[in-house]
Amino acid sequence: MKLSVSARAVVSGAVATAMLLAGGAVADAASTPPRPAAAPDIPLAGVKAHLSQLQSIATANGGNRAHGRPGYKASIDHIKAKLDAAGYTTTVQQFTASGRTGYNLIADWPGGDANQVVMAGSHLDSVSSGPGINDNGSGSAAVLETALAVSRAQYKPAKHLRFAWWGAEELGLVGSRHYVNRLATGDRSRIGAYLNFDMIGSPNPGYFVYDDDPAIEKTFKEYFSGLGVPTEIETEGDGRSDHAPFKSAGVPVGGLFTGASRTKTAAQAAKWGGTAGRAFDRCYHSSCDTTANIDDTALDRNSDAVAYAVWELSE
Ligand SMILES: [Zn+2]
Repeated sequence: MKLSVSARAVVSGAVATAMLLAGGAVADAASTPPRPAAAPDIPLAGVKAHLSQLQSIATANGGNRAHGRPGYKASIDHIKAKLDAAGYTTTVQQFTASGRTGYNLIADWPGGDANQVVMAGSHLDSVSSGPGINDNGSGSAAVLETALAVSRAQYKPAKHLRFAWWGAEELGLVGSRHYVNRLATGDRSRIGAYLNFDMIGSPNPGYFVYDDDPAIEKTFKEYFSGLGVPTEIETEGDGRSDHAPFKSAGVPVGGLFTGASRTKTAAQAAKWGGTAGRAFDRCYHSSCDTTANIDDTALDRNSDAVAYAVWELSE
């Protein structure tokens, strides 16, 4: 993995400082200007281990992790246990949709300014026709591994960090809408950013960034330009995922996406690789959305981008 943009800026700054010192003196570490805490590289193996666990949960529960089905509740319980063990304060929020109980999982990292909340979320439910590993095990696993990285680093950001896994997105953003509607007006205004990750490991990937809040968009673009990976504005899923209720409530939103049933063009294949004339995800909402339906490079880059944005926006 390449150095993050901020880490690289620090390195070149240090080199410049050293060059300015006459006689080959060694730069004094104490004189280095304060800099943002560097986001960690998120281990792909960790993200993929979460995907394998979600696949096993689906396999053991009729092949899916859909709202109102046992595979969904098992997915929530599994992720909650990991967060509890890592020191998070977790809350399971219940709601009813289509006559069945649904669940959101909210995890707060203790500390930070409660008046400035940075939130990252993803929907955890699959459709009933498949295990939902790209849609949306991928976003769920990357957000989980980022939350665990916060704990491993014992990161102490200036702002308060909150992570969320939404239920019943596939029924029409039900869980995230329930959460936003239940927030007191003051609590809504305390959320300074909501970052959404819904499908970030598509097997024939594109690199799409939501063009919502300019500061959030800039943060993601900065990360990908540091990797030398071109991005495009996300249009396929616009308003079709859990950022929509936040945006409607006036919360600044952003996010990443690697494509669903739309077809990759020749121009996109030329810049990103993959196969022109084929869907970004041929297994979208199908039984073949398994652990085989993931592009590791896309999952790795996007998981690192999640952590980069969480770190950059919360310091
Ligand atoms: Zn989705």
